[in-house]
Amino acid sequence: MAKFIFVTGGVVSSIGKGITASSIGRMLRNRGFTVAPVKLDPYINVDAGTMNPYQHGEVFVTDDGTETDLDLGHYERFMDVSCSQGSSITAGKVYQRVIEAERKGDYLGATVQVIPHITNAIKAGIEDLAAKEEADVVLAEIGGTVGDIESLPFLEAIRQMRQAHGRDNTLFVHVTLVPSVGPWGEVKTKPTQHSVMSLRQIGIAPDILVCRCETPLTPDQKAKISHFCDVEEDRVIESLNAETIYEVPLLYERLGLGEQVATCLKLEFERNDTEEWAALVDRIKVPQHRAEIAVVGKYTSNGDAYKSIAEALVHAGIPHGASISIRWIESDLFEATTDPASLLEGVGGVIIAPGFGERGVEGKVRAVRYIREQGIPFLGICLGLQMAVIEFAQNVCGLEGANSTEFEPSPAYPVVDVMPDQVGVTRKGATMRLGTYPCNVTAGTLGHRLYGQTRIEERHRHRYEVNNDFRELLIDKGLVVSGVSPDYRLVEMIELPNHPFFIATQAHPEFKSRPNRPHPLFRGLVEAAIARKLPDVSAAASPAN
Ligand code: GLN
Repeated sequence: MAKFIFVTGGVVSSIGKGITASSIGRMLRNRGFTVAPVKLDPYINVDAGTMNPYQHGEVFVTDDGTETDLDLGHYERFMDVSCSQGSSITAGKVYQRVIEAERKGDYLGATVQVIPHITNAIKAGIEDLAAKEEADVVLAEIGGTVGDIESLPFLEAIRQMRQAHGRDNTLFVHVTLVPSVGPWGEVKTKPTQHSVMSLRQIGIAPDILVCRCETPLTPDQKAKISHFCDVEEDRVIESLNAETIYEVPLLYERLGLGEQVATCLKLEFERNDTEEWAALVDRIKVPQHRAEIAVVGKYTSNGDAYKSIAEALVHAGIPHGASISIRWIESDLFEATTDPASLLEGVGGVIIAPGFGERGVEGKVRAVRYIREQGIPFLGICLGLQMAVIEFAQNVCGLEGANSTEFEPSPAYPVVDVMPDQVGVTRKGATMRLGTYPCNVTAGTLGHRLYGQTRIEERHRHRYEVNNDFRELLIDKGLVVSGVSPDYRLVEMIELPNHPFFIATQAHPEFKSRPNRPHPLFRGLVEAAIARKLPDVSAAASPAN
C-alpha cells in the first residue's frame, strides 16, 4: 500500500514548491523508498504542449512522449526516476475523461458534477499511478496557490484521500512565504496564517509547513507560526535561498524535514544515503574551472523556457569541476548586428536552442555561420540541428535560399521539410513526433566517442526533419551524419570534422541529463569549452544556479 504526500503552495507562486517536492522525493530515495511523483495542474489545457514557454516555462517531455510542466524535469533530476503519462494530471485531462465517460453512458441517470465525478477522476488518477508504479510513496504536487478557484476540486480530492487512506498514509505539506517587509526587514507571518486559514476552511489542516524566508526564523517566529497555524514547532521548517538548488535536499535534511516526513507517515527505514548527493553539491559549490556557454534562442528573457538545458549544463560541469555560467542571447540580436563576435566574445561554447516559428531564425543561421567559421564549440538541439543544416546548405553547399518549410512554404531548397507522417496533421495537441526513439550512431564519429555506444535512445519533440533529397549533397560537401534512425530514414545527429567541437541532434538530450549522470553531449561541450579557455578560478567563483 502506497503512502501519499500532497504538497500545496500558499501566498504566491514561484517560492520553490516544485523544488521542495523534489527535495522530499530525494530524501525518501536516500532512505531507500521508491517514489512516484505526480503534478496536479489545475489548468484546462489537456497538457502543457500548446503553452507558450514565455508564460509557462519549458515544456518537459517524458519517455512516453507526454508534454508536461517543467516541474517533472525537477522530479526526474532530483529523484532519478523516469516519469510517464500518469505523472501529469491536468484539469483538462480530468474533464476530458469525465466528459467522454458521460457521452459513453457510464453515468446514465446521474447529473455529472464536480463533486463527486471530477474529484473521483482526480483520485483515480493518483491511485492508478500508485498501483502502476508499485511505489512506496506517491508524491503529489498541486499546481497554483491555495485560494485559486480552479484548484478547489484538486484540494477537495486530496482532502477526501486523507479520509479514505487515513492519517498514517497521507501527509499534507504546505509551502508558504514568510516575507520580510518595511525599512527594518520585519518578518511577517500573517500571509502564512491566512494561507493556512484558507486551507483549513476547505478541510485541510497542514501537517508540515515549509516557510520560504530570507533570513532564518527566530524561535519566537517559529513558535508564533506554530501557534497560529496549529502545526507542531518541529514541523515548521524554514526554507532559505541555497547556493544551488541541488543543495536544498541537504538543507532540509539538516532542518529535520526528512525525519518529520518519515515520522508522520510511519515510514521505517534502515539507511539514509546522502554521500553521493553531498559530494556532487560540493563539486558544484567549489569549482576548479569556470566557463561561459551562450544559449541562443527566442525565449531567452525567461530562463525557465530552457530549464532543462540550464540544468544539463550545471550537471555537465560537475565531472569537470567546472562552474558554467550561461549567457542568454536572443536570436534576433544576430540579425540586428553585423558583428556576431561582439555577442559571442569570451564564450567557451554555444548552444542553439530548440524552438518553433520563424522569428529569430535568420539570426540563428548567422550565429551558426560564425561558430562554424571561428571554430567555437557548438551543440545544436532540435531546431539547432535544423539551423546548422540550413547554414551548411546555404554557405558551404552554395544553395542560396535554402530553408525549412516551417518558415517558408516553398523555399528554393527545402533542406528541412515536414516529416511525411506529419503531412496533413492539423490538430496541434500531442501530434508531434514525441518521446523516446532509438538512433544508430556511426562508429568512429564524435557522437560515438561521446556516447561510447552505437545504439542510443533520446527523447524527441518535432515535426520537421532533414530533407533526404539533400542528404547526399550535404554529405558530399563534408557534413557527417553521425546518427540515423534504425530505418535510416531520419537524420538524428550531424557533426563537422575539422572543427574543435561541432555536433547537433534532432533530439532533446537535455531531458535525460541528471546531476549524477550528466549527458554525454553536454559533457563534451563543456569539455571543449574548458579546453578553449581555461582560466583558473578561486573557490569563491559563483556557480550557475
Ligand atoms: N520547429 C522544429 C520542428 O518542429 C524544431 C522543434 C524543436 O526544436 N523542438 O521540427
